[in-house]
Amino acid sequence: MAKSERHPSAIGQALLALGDQWTLLMLQRAFLTRTRRFAGWRDQLGMSESVLAGRLKEMVAGDLLRPSPYREEGRGRTEYLLTDRALELWPMLVVIWAWEYEWIHRPDMPVLIHDACGEHAGVDVGCSACGEAPITARETEAERGQSATFAQVAVPRHHRRTVRDRVPRDPLSHFPETLELLGDRWSTAILAASFLRIRRFADLQAELGVAPSILADRLRRFTELKVLKPVDGPAGRREYRLTGKGLAFFGVFAFLVEWAQRWYTGPPDSTLLITHQGCGRPLVPFLRCRSCHERLTRSGVHFDSPDGSVRILPSPG
Ligand SMILES: [Zn+2]
Ligand SMILES: [Zn+2]
Repeated sequence: MAKSERHPSAIGQALLALGDQWTLLMLQRAFLTRTRRFAGWRDQLGMSESVLAGRLKEMVAGDLLRPSPYREEGRGRTEYLLTDRALELWPMLVVIWAWEYEWIHRPDMPVLIHDACGEHAGVDVGCSACGEAPITARETEAERGQSATFAQVAVPRHHRRTVRDRVPRDPLSHFPETLELLGDRWSTAILAASFLRIRRFADLQAELGVAPSILADRLRRFTELKVLKPVDGPAGRREYRLTGKGLAFFGVFAFLVEWAQRWYTGPPDSTLLITHQGCGRPLVPFLRCRSCHERLTRSGVHFDSPDGSVRILPSPG
């Protein structure tokens, strides 16, 4: 069977479910502003009704949102609640925020507050097995199953454009660069391959089954964003290596991999195992407050406006 016809790995399935900027923005609003109604997403994000309806349908089918009936002015309506699967994405969204805050800081970005210590919380990713934090990409080892189809995401998605949709530029849409890294499935797959030290154009192409023009475009863009850096490798062959900024995205990758493999089932030989070298155990990431070193929970953090005056974003209970 051709590679592209295979059932995708758990990570491939997760990339299909999440690798879309509207999906990411809708999830973010569901977490931060507790948006759960059609008009809420439409008005906050400026989405067209047809695009929004399409995404809602997919997110329900993908078990990220669950329809729930309610009555308004005597009429039956539907709102959409985060499923258990989607709720477990919160640490990934926090790490996305932290990466943008650290590497692409804008003054209007909301700040994360750890309720227990009251501090602006820088966050570190730790290893649940041994409790060590922070854990960096270099302190981990990634090992793939034989089939290595983790990044096979070549399932036709006709409505997915390769050009970027226009997304809102308000302070809440605080991850413009992340949307470029995660907001389309190819970008995310290329980034994932980079963490697995797949560095050459031909190797990336073979691994991902991606069209050369798309691969060239994404590598150029990642180079512009200073996430990847082209260098001359052995025998003068060009390699694309993660920069410090790219390596710092590891936390997002670690949470994505863990979430994907907990909620999706791929072929048995397609598992990706990330090991923490320090303790030799599989990496189950957790978030730690950089100020007080306590573990962060979903209900134990919230976002404030940059000057601390307004608690703009409740965290879902
Ligand atoms: Zn460990
Ligand atoms: Zn704290």
